[in-house]
Amino acid sequence: MTILYWLRHDLRLHDNELLAALPAAGATRLLPVVCFDPAALGPDRYLKLPKMGPHRLPFWLESLADLRKSYAALGSDIHFVAGSPAEVLPALARQIGAGAVWTSGEFTTEEADTEAAVEAALGPRIPLRRFENLLLLHPDDLSIKVRDLPLSFSKFRYDVAARTPVRTPAPVPRALPPLPDGFGPAPLPTVAGLAATVGVSALAAGPAHPKTARPALGGGETTGLARLHDYAVARHLVGRYDDTRNELLGEAFSTKFSAWLANGSLSARQVWAAIDQYEATHGDRSKGAMQLRLELLWRDYFRLLAERSGRDFFRLAGLRGQLPRPIDPNRKIFKKWTEGRTGHPFVDANMRELAATGFMSNRGRQNVASYLLHDLKQDWRWGAAWFEHQLVDHDPASNWGNWKYLAGTGTDVRDPGYDVTQQARRYDPQGKYVRTWQ
Ligand SMILES: Cc1cc2nc3c(=O)[nH]c(=O)nc-3n(C[C@H](O)[C@H](O)[C@H](O)COP(=O)(O)OP(=O)(O)OC[C@H]3O[C@@H](n4cnc5c(N)ncnc54)[C@H](O)[C@@H]3O)c2cc1C
Repeated sequence: MTILYWLRHDLRLHDNELLAALPAAGATRLLPVVCFDPAALGPDRYLKLPKMGPHRLPFWLESLADLRKSYAALGSDIHFVAGSPAEVLPALARQIGAGAVWTSGEFTTEEADTEAAVEAALGPRIPLRRFENLLLLHPDDLSIKVRDLPLSFSKFRYDVAARTPVRTPAPVPRALPPLPDGFGPAPLPTVAGLAATVGVSALAAGPAHPKTARPALGGGETTGLARLHDYAVARHLVGRYDDTRNELLGEAFSTKFSAWLANGSLSARQVWAAIDQYEATHGDRSKGAMQLRLELLWRDYFRLLAERSGRDFFRLAGLRGQLPRPIDPNRKIFKKWTEGRTGHPFVDANMRELAATGFMSNRGRQNVASYLLHDLKQDWRWGAAWFEHQLVDHDPASNWGNWKYLAGTGTDVRDPGYDVTQQARRYDPQGKYVRTWQ
C-alpha cells in the first residue's frame, strides 16, 4: 500500500506514533508531504499580520531541513507543496495511487477544520487516518471523554492526569518505505520564496540576537534532542527548575523546549522520560522535576480544553460566554504596547525582547498580557494575535489558552490582574533585565 503522510506539528522521528505504525500497515511506498497553506501562514483576522512571523518561519524551515536529512538517512525524503491542503493533497494522493492519507490529528478549530476539509475532499475511497503526536497523555488512556474534561486545571491534574500513565516514547524507525516512483529530492523553499508563494510580505529573518535567552541552536529534532540532553542530563538543570523558572535573563533559567515542542520536533513524552531519567539518576523526587511535569500537564490541558470548547476557545467571551471586563479598543495604545513604548519600563523591556528574539519568559508573558488587559483595557484577542505573529514557540492552544485565562474568560477567573510595578520589583530587583532591553 502507498501512504501519503501529511506532516504537520510532528516534525520528528522519535516518539512518532504514525511512523511506528507503518510496518504493521504493510506500507510499501510512503510520500511524506509538507503543505505550505497560505491560510495557515498568512494574515490573521485581527491585525492582518502573517500568522507565522519573522522568528517562527525560519525556525520551522530549519526544522524541516533537519528532518529532511533524517528522512534521507532512512531512505526517504520530504515533498513540499503549496496551496490549500484540501485541494493539493487529494490531487497528490490520487496521483500516487495512495490507499490512505495519514496525519497527526490537531485539536484547535482552524487546524481541525482544515483536516475535515481534506477528509471530505479525499472521499471514502482514500481514508484519512489520524494519529496522536501532540500530547503527553494519550487520549485513549484518559479515564474520561474529552467532552467531560473538568473546567478546572486542579481537577484535571488530580482527578484525570494523576490516574493516567504516560506512555514510553515510541522508538525511532530503522528505515522508511521508499518514495513513490517519480518523486525525488526537491529544494526546500527559502523564507523569502515562501513568503512570496503564500502571499505575505517578505519577512526579515535576522541572525540570532546576541542577548537572546533562547539557546541559538536553530530548529529541528537534532537540536531539540541536544537541548533536552544538555538541560536534563548533562547539566542536571531539572533539579533547579523550580528555583529559577521565574527568572528573566540567560538560557538556563527555564528549559526553552517550547519552540521544539510547538512544532513537534521534540515530544512531550520524550521530555517526561528525561525527567524520569533525571530522578532515577539523582534518586530524589525534586521540586524542580515535579514543577516541570506540572507545566507539561498545563500544555496538555490547554490542548484538551481547545478540543472540548471548539470555537468558544477563540471568542471574546471565552468559555463561559461572559464578556471580559470592559475594554476600550484603541489601535494607537495597542501599537505602543507592541513596540515596547507604553512607558512602563518592565513591560517595554519584555516587548522589545519579544520583537528582537521571538521569545519572552513566562513571567514576562504573564505581565505584559495582564498589563494590556487590565491596565490598558485592550481586547485579549489582539494580544494573542500579536503573540502568534511574534513568538517562535507559538502554538494555538497554549497561546490563546493562556491569554483567555488572564483575561478571565477561561476556566478559572484570574482577577484583577498583576500589579506589574510590584512584579518588576520582585523579579528584577536591580533593574538588570530592564537595562538589558532598554
Ligand atoms: C500570554 C501567554 C502566552 C503564551 N503563549 C505560549 C505559546 O504560544 N506557546 C507555548 O509553548 N507557551 C506559551 N505560553 C506558556 C509559557 O510562557 C511558555 O511555554 C514558556 O515561557 C516557554 O519557555 P520554556 O520552554 O523555557 O518553558 P519552561 O518553563 O521550561 O516549561 C517547560 C514547558 O512546559 C510548557 N509550559 C510551560 N508553561 C506553560 C503554560 N503556562 N501553558 C502551557 N504550557 C506551558 C511549555 O511547553 C514549555 O516549553 C504562554 C504564556 C502566556 C502567559
